[in-house]
Amino acid sequence: MRVETTCPVEIVSMRSVANSTMALRLFNHARERVLAMEGVVKGQSALANAPIAFPYRSERLCGAPRQCFELTVPCVSALKPEHIQFIVTRVRLEGVNADWKSGCGINVEIEPMEPLSDADRLKLASTLSPEARCYAKEYSEAWRCVCGRISERWEKRCPVCGLTEETAMRCTKDALVQVTREEEHHPIIPIEDTPAPRKPRFALFRRTAAVLLSRNQT
Ligand SMILES: [Zn+2]
Repeated sequence: MRVETTCPVEIVSMRSVANSTMALRLFNHARERVLAMEGVVKGQSALANAPIAFPYRSERLCGAPRQCFELTVPCVSALKPEHIQFIVTRVRLEGVNADWKSGCGINVEIEPMEPLSDADRLKLASTLSPEARCYAKEYSEAWRCVCGRISERWEKRCPVCGLTEETAMRCTKDALVQVTREEEHHPIIPIEDTPAPRKPRFALFRRTAAVLLSRNQT
């Protein structure tokens, strides 16, 4: 899947409905609501067997912040599902003056977000980021944070949750499995609540000094 790194929305899945509509599930990376989107659908016409491209515009959306939302786009022709490209060129966010427009980031080929297992989500939410939702992933030109955001390699900190790339890369699926296994082999012993009684630090010195003094006196 090809995405632009700065784009506030990411396609999670898409399917054709009744040959004339596309139903998409998108994820809103932003902290503001998605109000409107526009872009281009490219594909291969199923009837004419020829390349086809048509623009779309969706207004009155209500894409909640940091959540998935649904979008339906009418198609001008039935498309072959294996060739569909859904391109986002503009996104309007609630309370943000300027719309996001394509051209601000770089296009990278990425895999879909890989959701965390329940156990890993609980673990990461309590230790690293309450927004953790997927495994981190490294690409040649970009990296995906545990909150889902895609950043370019020069960006060393995630603009959404603030995690550094270095920390995020310890939360890839392989790394996290490794950490979990290490913990199983070397269980962490919890620190006792009651502190051990303090030993007098100078007791030995005092005793030695007393012996020396008594020797000198005799
Ligand atoms: Zn993040």
